[in-house]
Amino acid sequence: MAKQSQLHCSFCGRSRDEVKILIAGLEGHICENCVEHAQEIIAQEISTTVATATTGGSKLTVRKPVEIKAFLDQYVIGQDDAKKVLSVAVYNHFKRITQKKTDNEVEIEKSNIIMVGETGTGKTLLAKSIAKLLNVPFAIVDATVFTEAGYVGEDVESMLTRLLQSCNYDVAAAERGIVYVDEIDKIARKGDNPSITRDVSGEGVQQGLLKMLEGTEALVPPQGGRKHPEQKMIKINTQNILFICGGAFDGVDKIIARRINTNSIGFNVNKQQEEEQKKNLLQFVNAQDLKSFGLIPELLGRLPVVTHLEPLDSETLRSILTEPKNSLMKQFTRLFELEGIKLTVDKDALDFITEKALAFKLGARGLRSICENILTDAMFELPGTNAKKLHVDLDYAKNKFDKSKLNHLKVA
Ligand code: ADP
Repeated sequence: MAKQSQLHCSFCGRSRDEVKILIAGLEGHICENCVEHAQEIIAQEISTTVATATTGGSKLTVRKPVEIKAFLDQYVIGQDDAKKVLSVAVYNHFKRITQKKTDNEVEIEKSNIIMVGETGTGKTLLAKSIAKLLNVPFAIVDATVFTEAGYVGEDVESMLTRLLQSCNYDVAAAERGIVYVDEIDKIARKGDNPSITRDVSGEGVQQGLLKMLEGTEALVPPQGGRKHPEQKMIKINTQNILFICGGAFDGVDKIIARRINTNSIGFNVNKQQEEEQKKNLLQFVNAQDLKSFGLIPELLGRLPVVTHLEPLDSETLRSILTEPKNSLMKQFTRLFELEGIKLTVDKDALDFITEKALAFKLGARGLRSICENILTDAMFELPGTNAKKLHVDLDYAKNKFDKSKLNHLKVA
């Protein structure tokens, strides 16, 4: 007994008599107070997630460009040019990050990508599908929320917060993830003379993006927002993070037209011809046009791969409705199936939906709202009844659509 009382906690030094429990280790002891204290520290660290840099949990899957494109084909209709360019860029990116380091190796530069295309043409979908295929963390961020330090808004580093959140703060995984920066065109320089007003959400943000796109050790606020001094930061190396930027770049077609010396669109041509010209022009887009649009040359230098997306014509829209692996029609069919109801939709009803979506000029996004408007009544009324099937023909579609709010929107 006398011997026991000489024992003490190796952490706080309290003797056996001063504590309730003393747990023996190989070379020391710990008391219940210190266990509790240690537990608190662990909980705190985990909640701030700063110390959770576990290494490479998920395995990197590298695919050949042809395989990448074939995968994209399952989800994205058309956009062959963009798919090819993306497949090659992503393949090269992964070759680059998996290459063995030798002394005199040729350094392969990062192939960040910029996609130019109207809204709803599949830019986000392409980036998302690539992340799905490669099994890497993926985050979508909106360039419009960023502002220069000192102004209302977020620091550019907070885009990495989203990436970290998407992989549960696994730093090693995030360091080879993909970030899709949407609406990059909205941070274009506001005017040619930067001294007139401070351009805090335009050029200032572009400057902030430079280092990150190129590869730097960024200090990231774990919960996003603005960095502040008391906050613990997570260090992330962006060297191997692939940045894909996308934007509609409204009006860039006129810049392209000027550059390639054709008549600018909009004069003496009817709407259809104008659309046709516009479609043809976008495929010639290059970094020079984007510079004229207002992106700074340094930023464009770090986005070496430029590609475009075609506007969706009625044929493509019609295919988007039914063909992709998780097409809208397949999704609605499944929703009804879960209620024990068999949904069938006539061809001319599908054509009607396509025609309306084309008129709304929302790309494929319009398809969903139109389908929702046509099917909401049925989705509301049928569950709980004995109905076993729902047949949507042209009249049904027209009738429901005419009653919907969408119908009251004026098409420009
Ligand atoms: P954005 O070009 O504005 O980023 P999105 O990729 O977000 O457009 O597309 C909006 C929706 O439209 C997506 O959820 C997708 O279902 C559909 N979509 C757009 N383009 C295509 C396409 N080419 N193939 C299949 N679905 C598409």
